[in-house]
Amino acid sequence: MIDHRRLGRELGLFTSDPLAGAGLPLWLPAGAAARHAVEEYIRELERQAGHQHVLTPPLGKRELFELSGHLDFFADDMFPPMRLSADDEFVLRPALCPHHALVYRSRGRSRRDLPLRIAELGGMYRAERSGVLGGLARVRAISLNDAHNFCTLDQVGAEVAEILRLIREAHAALGVRPAGYRLSLRGPAERYVGDEADWERAEELLRAALDGVEYTEGVGEAAFYGPKIDIQVVDSAGRESTLSTVQLDFDKPERFDLSYVDSGGARRRPVMVHRSLVGSMERLFGYLIEVHEGTFPAWYAPVQLVVLPIAAGQDSAAEMFAAAAQAAGLRAEVHRNGSLGGRIREAAHARIPYAAVVGPREAAVGQVSLRLRDGRSLAPLPAAEAIALVARVVATRSPELVPPG
Ligand SMILES: [Zn+2]
Repeated sequence: MIDHRRLGRELGLFTSDPLAGAGLPLWLPAGAAARHAVEEYIRELERQAGHQHVLTPPLGKRELFELSGHLDFFADDMFPPMRLSADDEFVLRPALCPHHALVYRSRGRSRRDLPLRIAELGGMYRAERSGVLGGLARVRAISLNDAHNFCTLDQVGAEVAEILRLIREAHAALGVRPAGYRLSLRGPAERYVGDEADWERAEELLRAALDGVEYTEGVGEAAFYGPKIDIQVVDSAGRESTLSTVQLDFDKPERFDLSYVDSGGARRRPVMVHRSLVGSMERLFGYLIEVHEGTFPAWYAPVQLVVLPIAAGQDSAAEMFAAAAQAAGLRAEVHRNGSLGGRIREAAHARIPYAAVVGPREAAVGQVSLRLRDGRSLAPLPAAEAIALVARVVATRSPELVPPG
């Protein structure tokens, strides 16, 4: 595997600048285009699975993170609070859960509202030491694919099973190849919140959800508020990290005094399930760049289609074709400078899935010749058919460049 930092620079996906600060990468247009395609897909997947999206700010009052326990248990990983005045301090959030707990309690909830799935692709911050930072794998400003599913204890099993199904679906579409599942449990040395009985019940529920799945146990790898299932990936240097996670939490509902009214009119505590299907956009892309060696599936390739007029006489035909591709929702560009062979090589080097060559013969009859980045070429096609072919591959998020059949 290739180091994503080198390839990310080479493909113009992201950069860093000492003036911006270590661990604070800048996403360049190509990287942003790929990331947006992935973000839109994840939101669509979540909507279809009954999640409701919210937008909450990446910082909040100090008291919010005192209440959540983060300042007690997690302060070492957080940036120091920012003081505006003696009684007005703000904290860059290290997690989205406190805000989502406030969303939950922004109105009364009944049993019928559960499971309530609050999702957000939101910003958060970790005060990582500068020595461990590099590229996208370890950053200080994190864009997390996150959700908090509030449910009854009876619903936890089905909820976790459904989350694991969504994780597998997202991994298949993105080309993620997990290195393994880990059940992360308490260790003897760390500090945890919550009572013994809750921890045992949570561990039992997660074990049951993993029935039939091969997994290892990570003692001491639990979150401070509960055990979790982590899905691990391995980077080009052989380092393992967590990409996807499902965590049970009996503690935050208690701290935030969250409740719902059951069918008998009694007030009950929901369970909070923290989950991330694909982790942070930073770590995900650090991994995807390496695992695909920059050759992303067409649906999230930064540029999907490059149009190559053979000579100036085909400029307007090429322009029209690119405009039609863009109107069909594709990311298309016209490249004019240099020899045709040179432009084809450049497009393949940039991992652009399709190059549409327009020569005088094709221009005269409204056709293009598609060349694929793997070196294959297709017989000339009417422009509309070529666009439909690419659009079908993109819409189905196929890993192949030519639709089957
Ligand atoms: Zn959370």
